Amino acid sequence: MDLLRNEGPTSQASIARKTGLSPATVNNVIQLLRKEGVADFEWINGREALVTLISTKGVMMSVMVGADYIQGAVFSFEEQVRHDLLVYPENLLGQQSTPESLVLFIEQLAKQAGVSVGSVAGISVSIQAPVDKKTGTIAVWSSGRLPGWKDIAIKERLESLLKVDVFVDNDANLATYAEWTWGAGRGVDCFLYLSCSRQIGSGLIIDGKVHNGSNGMAGELGHLVIDKGGPVCFCGSRGCLTTLVSERAILRILEGSENAKSSLTEVIKSAHNGDAACQRVLYEAGHHIGQALANTAKIVAPGIIAIGGELGSAWQFIKDSLRVATEENNLDNVSPGIQFVPGILTKDAVLLGGIASLLSISGQGISDLPLWMTQSGSAQSAFPTAM
Ligand SMILES: [Zn+2]
Repeated sequence: MDLLRNEGPTSQASIARKTGLSPATVNNVIQLLRKEGVADFEWINGREALVTLISTKGVMMSVMVGADYIQGAVFSFEEQVRHDLLVYPENLLGQQSTPESLVLFIEQLAKQAGVSVGSVAGISVSIQAPVDKKTGTIAVWSSGRLPGWKDIAIKERLESLLKVDVFVDNDANLATYAEWTWGAGRGVDCFLYLSCSRQIGSGLIIDGKVHNGSNGMAGELGHLVIDKGGPVCFCGSRGCLTTLVSERAILRILEGSENAKSSLTEVIKSAHNGDAACQRVLYEAGHHIGQALANTAKIVAPGIIAIGGELGSAWQFIKDSLRVATEENNLDNVSPGIQFVPGILTKDAVLLGGIASLLSISGQGISDLPLWMTQSGSAQSAFPTAM
């Protein structure tokens, strides 16, 4: 199962070779998995059969709690359909999201998908803040962004409200897991992912597992100090990567100029349309990111480093300065062969990472991401929302 999860569709002969099992044993196991509906054959050119993991049973839910929105999707494996919902917390309860407003959201999403919360095989909740693995709460230094969740043991609170198992992780860890399972990081044991949109998020896969560190705070690349005289960061440090390349930081550089923009999306769009100032700030962002990644890469030596989030779609403007920064750091000499690539799953990575995690926890998997999982079958929202 691990082999098929990590490497994608694989021939029986190759499974036997890689696992050291006899071809007869592999054949027996595959037949059993097919009977249970968790594996099947995928025919290549009508001749070679590759074994692929599938999921044909049940319903899973993945939701993400951001600073000012809650978004989620229900995935029905039997019907092969996905239902999405996005709301702003003020449309639920009060002005900010809380566990109670998330429960309302989950009930609304389940209703929209025509299922009951109790029948859902697993719910994954991503939090846009580091989650302390020991206490299950949001890191104190980061809780200002999600005040409604401060000091709350998230998993316990949600499970007691919902009466179902809930899996909770930081959004960047889930995006990393999705990119490693189905996206840019496929096929390597060690993978580093950095997402840059409104904030910087990052995660690390080591030996095929999300590396949490002793307390859940591993991989906080957004708070690597790049410029010690730089702006003060909400974490209490100065010149963190996030103060230099988050959306707000990029917009601040352009502020007051003729090329001022109101969102990172707009900056990237203008850069694609030939706006030289926007191209310049993205180039500089790539350099800052390259510095952080080169230093990190010397410690963990990942096979692939992927950059996702909105900056993933600005790859052509950041790739050259990324390379310059890694050359300045002499990364190729110290740790040769590391590939830098853009993320593939873009904005969907967090929700898909929740499903990849739930599948893995329940001993299942899907070798190739099917199209239906990336397309909402029911995109209408029950609330007046726009994003
Ligand atoms: Zn910081």
